[in-house]
Amino acid sequence: MHILIVRFSSMGDVVLQTATVNWLRSLYGASLRLSFVTSKEFVSLLERHPGINHVFSFDRRGGDKWSDLIKKIDGLEEEHPIDLIIDMHATMRSFRLKMNFWTTPALTVDKRRWERFLLTKFKGAFFKRLISEKVFGLEPQVERIINDFQDMFHDHHGVRATKDYVHGPHGEMTSLGLLEEYKIEGEYLVLAPSASFSPKRWPVKNFVELAKKLLEISSYKIVILAGADDNFCEAFNGISSDRLLNLQGKTSLKESMSILSRAKICIGNDSGMNHIAEAHGVSCLTLFGPTDPRFGFAPHGCSSRYLSKELWCKPCSTTGSKPCFRDKLYCMEEITVSEVVKAYESMGVQA
Ligand code: SF4
Repeated sequence: MHILIVRFSSMGDVVLQTATVNWLRSLYGASLRLSFVTSKEFVSLLERHPGINHVFSFDRRGGDKWSDLIKKIDGLEEEHPIDLIIDMHATMRSFRLKMNFWTTPALTVDKRRWERFLLTKFKGAFFKRLISEKVFGLEPQVERIINDFQDMFHDHHGVRATKDYVHGPHGEMTSLGLLEEYKIEGEYLVLAPSASFSPKRWPVKNFVELAKKLLEISSYKIVILAGADDNFCEAFNGISSDRLLNLQGKTSLKESMSILSRAKICIGNDSGMNHIAEAHGVSCLTLFGPTDPRFGFAPHGCSSRYLSKELWCKPCSTTGSKPCFRDKLYCMEEITVSEVVKAYESMGVQA
């Protein structure tokens, strides 16, 4: 059996598909050959995953030609014919890929786009409950996909969704080196203040206050993880503590994964960093702004928590990409530092 999974982006969504990878691997064991097509920037999330045999990289922004990707897949198909394509992206791009292999059976994920759209339009409490519980279902998205697909695999043995993401040894030495270099030994917390779209970010001044408070009430060290463009994280440089390490822009995605995998907890927005942490079994505290936990992206570990305000304007878009139409970002600004600290304390990880 050879399955090709297609998910080009984004970071968190690519990570979440590894639950399906684990589930398929648990069904078919070593008899399964599993290939994955993704965007170049996310290859490092998958390339050492023990459940994946081959990762195809596509760099659209870097000028990769579509025909070259198809040729690469064709080359592998000659050796290992593809039995099934699972389209986890459900966009024109993934449709085009399926069309190139139109004789191969394909499954396409139901992303509940319509239900998510309804939630952004009918914001009254009654409709939210109706749409969420009756139409949407309340499972996390990782379980929903597997539960949608499982009857199509005749030998699914009634296996329910798994949320585990078994990671490989990549990046560990580098991140260990980094941690040693900065004298971050022992247990530490990660703060991940970034997100793909700015309305999804809890204000950085709140993250700074939170860091100060956590340094005061715990003995943990704190590592800040964010991308090269997230210069707003310079705000952390005003904290003078040798227990705080601001690694914004200093780590590759592999290194960030490795640092996250060793963290005690990760506190961040509804973003890929929290999904990576949870996939490594690390508890998360996720702060939701314009998106809604009912979309299925809330953390699901038993010690994980999330905070989300019930506002008349929320959710205002399905991905959090639309600019806020109010005079300020109430959905984020109404989440207070003391609420976050209280949620952190309820996770049972104090030191
Ligand atoms: S405050 Fe309301 S309108 Fe503004 S981003 Fe948040 S949910 Fe959307």
